[in-house]
Amino acid sequence: MKHRTAFPVLRALSLFRASAGALVAWLLGDQQPDSPETARVKIHSYAFALVAAAPGLLLILASLLRQGAYFYAALHGAVILGVALMFPLVLLGRMSMLLAERVLAVLLTLGGGGFLLLCAHAPGQIIGFDLLGNILLFIVAGLLLVVPARLSISISLCLLAVYRLEVWRLGGDSGSSLVLAQWVNIGMFALLMVGVVMRQTLAQQAGRVHLLQELALRDTLTGLLNRRGFEEAVAPLRRGGQSGALIVLDIDDFKPINDTHGHIEGDRILEELADVLHRLAAETPGRRAGVCARWGGEEFLLYLPEPDMNLALEFARLLHAEIGAQRVRPKTARPQSGRPQTGRPQAVTGDAVTVSVGVGGWRPEEPLHHAFLRADTALYDAKRAGKNCVRAAFPHVSLEAATAALSSG
Ligand code: GH3
Ligand code: MG
Ligand code: MG
Repeated sequence: MKHRTAFPVLRALSLFRASAGALVAWLLGDQQPDSPETARVKIHSYAFALVAAAPGLLLILASLLRQGAYFYAALHGAVILGVALMFPLVLLGRMSMLLAERVLAVLLTLGGGGFLLLCAHAPGQIIGFDLLGNILLFIVAGLLLVVPARLSISISLCLLAVYRLEVWRLGGDSGSSLVLAQWVNIGMFALLMVGVVMRQTLAQQAGRVHLLQELALRDTLTGLLNRRGFEEAVAPLRRGGQSGALIVLDIDDFKPINDTHGHIEGDRILEELADVLHRLAAETPGRRAGVCARWGGEEFLLYLPEPDMNLALEFARLLHAEIGAQRVRPKTARPQSGRPQTGRPQAVTGDAVTVSVGVGGWRPEEPLHHAFLRADTALYDAKRAGKNCVRAAFPHVSLEAATAALSSG
């Protein structure tokens, strides 16, 4: 008889230990952030659950205080305060949803442990076993929602098993009177589990779709948009007959840099330059954000939603000057041994890389490849002019006139 009792207890204990270990790994480990759609659904759902749960939580707090269970009231109050504080932090973007869910899981588990302790301390007195059952189911429902399914189900089962054990060991006769309520609760718990597993699966699918979209639209080396991503990002900005400007940037003498310092160093330069470009393209007071992409190889493209070509040209010059000022250069000063030393001395000595820039106007309704051809022609002109400079091709002004205007400016 004795070992029949001990077996489920040991099983429960080992399950609890395994879950606690997995929970710690989940709490400390890196997780893939939610896709924007999942994050939006989550925040709305949690807000609804919080509002609906608030009266019950506050009434329990008041009841604990009334009965002088101050330690447990403080614990319960801290859990409520923690949850209430987390929400504005997530909404204000000060706390990630992922971290908030981890903190919430800890708070809920603490809360559940607190109530189980309270009932072990004063069985059925401050909180009756039926209310304890409901409170635990509430906590378990919360855990099921925030913790990954494989963890939440075992943790929840552990909490419920401890509760069942308490009712059985400490509840005396009242245990049998709870049987009906407990079966109803078990049915509810099973439904919740199904819901959670479905939610987790859908969230994982949404996350995967989001990741695939990111992979399809972004360049893996630099993290900038790729061609497809660029076209998708620019399309909404061009709706309604907007005109703008295209800026093409090409690193000067990049091949010799690769040949001299190696491909890995070349990759690093591409990444660094992409960061600079991304930063410079961001919105500033008086200028809307540009959309930048890695067009291919060592060539970058930037769309500026700026109908005034003079302002676009001014920005391209600023971009060129800023890139020069950032002094992006190979870190290895000496060329790699055994590599052919080709190209300009810059490639060998590790001087800052330079870019040639072509600017072209992009008329409303005009296809991208027309505007690109214009900007690319300007870039070619910049290369022919000795590189490390800006050239422009306005849609309404001839290339020669634009270039003449530029050199006089
Ligand atoms: P120019 O000033 O005329 O533009 O000369 P360039 O050497 O920059 O141009 P070229 O077209 O001759 O060479 C481009 C080089 O860019 C060749 C290729 O090895 C390098 N490249 C293209 N994509 C990558 C990449 O992803 N990583 C690295 N490291 N190099 C790349
Ligand atoms: Mg080049
Ligand atoms: Mg090129």
